[in-house]
Amino acid sequence: MVLVLGVDPQWRSHPVWESIVQIAGCDPGIESVVHAYFSGWGARVYYNQKVNSVSANRLKAIVEHPKYVVVYGAGSDGVNPTDGKPLITTGGGSITYHKADGSASIYVDVDDARGQHYLAPGHGGTVHDSLPTIVYHELAHAYYHLIGQNPPAYRDKEILARRDENEFRSHVGLKLLNVYDDSDPGFGIPTLGTLGFPACKPTGFTWCNIATVALGSPVARQIVAFRRAKREFERLTLGSTPLLEPMLSSYRLFSPLVASDMQSDPALRDAMLHYGVQPAVHLVQLVRALIAGRPDDMALVAAADREISQYLGELPDGPSTQLASAADAAAAASEVLSTGDESRLSGMWHLPGDAFASVTSSVQATRAESAGPAWVLAGIALFLRQATDRLGGVATAPDPRFESAIGDWLASVPLPDDAVLTDPVELGAELTVLNKTLFHHDANRVLFMHRIRERWPQASAALDALQVDYGEPTRRR
Ligand SMILES: [Zn+2]
Repeated sequence: MVLVLGVDPQWRSHPVWESIVQIAGCDPGIESVVHAYFSGWGARVYYNQKVNSVSANRLKAIVEHPKYVVVYGAGSDGVNPTDGKPLITTGGGSITYHKADGSASIYVDVDDARGQHYLAPGHGGTVHDSLPTIVYHELAHAYYHLIGQNPPAYRDKEILARRDENEFRSHVGLKLLNVYDDSDPGFGIPTLGTLGFPACKPTGFTWCNIATVALGSPVARQIVAFRRAKREFERLTLGSTPLLEPMLSSYRLFSPLVASDMQSDPALRDAMLHYGVQPAVHLVQLVRALIAGRPDDMALVAAADREISQYLGELPDGPSTQLASAADAAAAASEVLSTGDESRLSGMWHLPGDAFASVTSSVQATRAESAGPAWVLAGIALFLRQATDRLGGVATAPDPRFESAIGDWLASVPLPDDAVLTDPVELGAELTVLNKTLFHHDANRVLFMHRIRERWPQASAALDALQVDYGEPTRRR
């Protein structure tokens, strides 16, 4: 169950993480989530395996094992903690500690011997020992320790780990080690094969974890719609920062936990599909219709109407009877996340509410930024509420108030922390685009401008000077 990468400032976790991604064959099911551990901060690896290979299977076995394997990435001046000797003097710049409690710690030089290239004995020459192969080799030692099958003799341990390393090398097309040769050729240019590692390309649909599990397939048409929307949303910026970035970065942190809850509970998966994923898909489609810039208000009202009708058409009879309570639970979960008041969670631990309780508790457990998911849940609540009203005949189609409410919801998107509002020309252009694409009503624009002025009071003078129609009453000079 537990593979952790040390992420405190003295460790270089990113190259280690990239090696893990290569070992997984760029499986989109691999994720890391930062937690606090007794020894400091660590990025715990979660693996919803989709790729089948020897190395991916090994990784899965380590991740699922209850004992800990912790990997610390260091520079070439990093030291081996038992004797304080530089890692660079150990073969491959790496070492695995087999602890008495059955857990293991790995220390590895991520700088390839200050760029001089670690070498290992091959058949009739030397091969490059790249970071992914080094990490894989050390993980093999750790694995046999975890399962209690490490042979006692050093030489037998090495033969076992080199055999496993060769399986990985063979899978990715690298020259093989001579498993019986324990000499250390040091550093340099290999005489067999090439330098480097034939890297796979990360597929990058980790954003769609929850949706993938709910829909049962990463190629479902809804996932394609999500990915397309992500590209479109990235073009909408404020202070050069994507406006929807807070939502995306928080999603990356908490979604693996929700996805794993869903995998172990089919009822939860169904609730998440009907009340979370499907409304989100239609909400995203609605926002895309706004961005596409339809010419008049009635066209947008019609688009909103179409999404609600399609959603209700897809909803089975059973789940539609619980639509109102799902809407209430989504609104409550949003409030828990934005206020931190957990008292409202108490009534939610039964279906369909626990789909949303699972999201809030995962966000809290991973210490992900909560403003993004709170905002997403508020949008889903708005959508479910409108669908409930339609179902009960309270709202008659098409409803212009719903389109305006969607605009207000968009105008309350969490503002990106690292947005820099210094260039008035750029800011003017960005606000013009946002007003044209997202905020069609004066009330939406006033709300958005009010939030910007509140967040960046020092930008007020620059905003006053802009010739942007942001719906505020004309200012007196
Ligand atoms: Zn070894």
